[in-house]
Amino acid sequence: MSQFTLPSLPYAKDALTPFLSAETFDFHYGKHHQTYVDNLNKLIAGTEFENKTLEEIVVKSNGGLFNNAAQNWNHSFYWQSLSAEKNQAPNGKLAQAITDSFGSRAEFEKQFATAAIGHFGSGWAWLTVNPKDKKLKIETTGNAETPLRTGSGVPLFTLDVWEHAYYIDYRNARAKYVEAFWNFLNWHFAEENFNKLQI
Ligand code: MN
Repeated sequence: MSQFTLPSLPYAKDALTPFLSAETFDFHYGKHHQTYVDNLNKLIAGTEFENKTLEEIVVKSNGGLFNNAAQNWNHSFYWQSLSAEKNQAPNGKLAQAITDSFGSRAEFEKQFATAAIGHFGSGWAWLTVNPKDKKLKIETTGNAETPLRTGSGVPLFTLDVWEHAYYIDYRNARAKYVEAFWNFLNWHFAEENFNKLQI
């Protein structure tokens, strides 16, 4: 029987201050994400999903199982979308694709922030790419929903916009959380995801 575990963080829990405090990681990673892992393990026990990969479960499940599987995948992707190596910039083909799709990096950041701040309720903001025409797209998904299942595009990075992601450090001010995010965005990770598609 397969058991999922909480993945290690790619940085120390105090490495992303002042964007996110160690206390946020204690709760968001140590409690919320851990709970999704524990629930996932309980829900797959004795079912057809017991020996499936996380990606397979996300794509094929529904209801509570989908919610917990997708939240596991989304959070692992989110931790990797952040970096302690501050002030990165997009490079190479990805930088070109941003210019081609949005006009400029500044315009992209403006549109992404508007989407992330404007998303009503819990969810996620994503930069995705259509692997066929290389077109980049900003999208948001509600609750646990993920491009992995909708197939709307291949995710390059994500930002968690659930209140639990920012309430300790920013209270209700989602806009301040989104503004602070840019300096801690892992553009290297986004670029790896983009270059993997060989487009
Ligand atoms: Mn979260």
